[in-house]
Amino acid sequence: MTDPAASIEELTVQRDRARQDHADLVARGLKLDLTRGKPSQRQLDLADELLDLRAPVVSADGTDLRNYGGLQGLAELRAIFSGALQVPVAQLLAAGNSSLELMHDALVFALLGAVPGAERRWVDEPEVAFLCPVPGYDRHFALCERFGITLIPVPMTPDGPDMAVVERLAAEDPKVKGIWCVPKYSNPDGAVYADETVRRLAAMTTAAPDFRIFWDNAYAVHHLTDEPAEIADLLALCAEHGNPDRPFVFGSTSKITFAGGGVGFFGSSPANVEWWLGHTAKRSIGPDKINQLRHVRFLRDQDGLREHMRRHAALIRPKFEAVHKILSTELGGTGLASWTNPAGGYFISLQVPEGCARAVVAKAKEAGIALTPAGATHPYGDDPTDSVIRIAPTYPELAEVEAAITGLATCVRLVGTEKLLA
Ligand code: PLP
Repeated sequence: MTDPAASIEELTVQRDRARQDHADLVARGLKLDLTRGKPSQRQLDLADELLDLRAPVVSADGTDLRNYGGLQGLAELRAIFSGALQVPVAQLLAAGNSSLELMHDALVFALLGAVPGAERRWVDEPEVAFLCPVPGYDRHFALCERFGITLIPVPMTPDGPDMAVVERLAAEDPKVKGIWCVPKYSNPDGAVYADETVRRLAAMTTAAPDFRIFWDNAYAVHHLTDEPAEIADLLALCAEHGNPDRPFVFGSTSKITFAGGGVGFFGSSPANVEWWLGHTAKRSIGPDKINQLRHVRFLRDQDGLREHMRRHAALIRPKFEAVHKILSTELGGTGLASWTNPAGGYFISLQVPEGCARAVVAKAKEAGIALTPAGATHPYGDDPTDSVIRIAPTYPELAEVEAAITGLATCVRLVGTEKLLA
């Protein structure tokens, strides 16, 4: 192992061994993919009952769901997710198959139709900027870039974004209109926002009267342990601090039932929900209520949802454990890497020495191991320290995860020792 205080001779031996290990790895001709946080086939199989919807296709109140209407989505499905997403049923909407499209729509509606409390539409502002806790989710950043919204990085801590920075930027600059937050088991750190972070987000002064928190609670029920993380209730805290319209809450069943065949949710204050429905009523005569009914019959209630998520955890926990174990064995104590060991969600964040992440990803690619591009976790794809690598272990089979992480550790040893000797 690479001792941080190792001599040049020792480091040279380690580098030469890493070179040989990498050459052997390349020779194996692997084809492994750790790029995207997708459920595995076995996870998808857990929800196959969704495919057996039987007549009558009616809601609890007797509505024929085969017809138009019901813009808010099925009340009984909203009731199942109201607790997990911390939004009262009346303020929670069940929509199409994806939460990302709801985040997209939220930006479009705010650009083209003033949000409650706004002086003007965002498109009429000289500049709009969003705070982006980093490392973060590349698709959030891509949405902003798509609409010309400036991205301002804010450092993440294990308790959520660095609130001193968030409070300063939000208070001093009216062009700062929003912040992206993945409050539970964040992508990619797996961080859980501390209660104090949530309170400060709800209470802080913002120069923009129409500041919005894009609260993407994508991993609200995706626990890996038997001690589910709880976060503070953002909607209630915002109301309590006189900022009821500040949060937009998003969630989905993409990683609960079928990714691509699930249900997305939007929740907010009564004023924001009315504003939202005013826009969506033009866009659609109603969501796919039949898919929503499928979800109600399958999940049944909040207990059913919890039980189902335990089955997911049983499938993916061993993969997360394998990553932690292999990285500890291969890289522990070397000073070449540190990594998160999340209690939920879909990702692990691997930190390598500054200036090494791109080279590690490139070396892994040579060996047939596909990783999310280094930098993807930062606005504009630019990690100024070039040190963060996102690991997504859910999709491949356990043996593949083990092979890929062992290979990745070899690449870290190679690039790390080469850098130390450079
Ligand atoms: N939000 C986060 C934080 C994610 O990690 C992902 C997928 O990886 C999504 C949203 C995508 O959600 P959906 O499938 O509901 O569009």
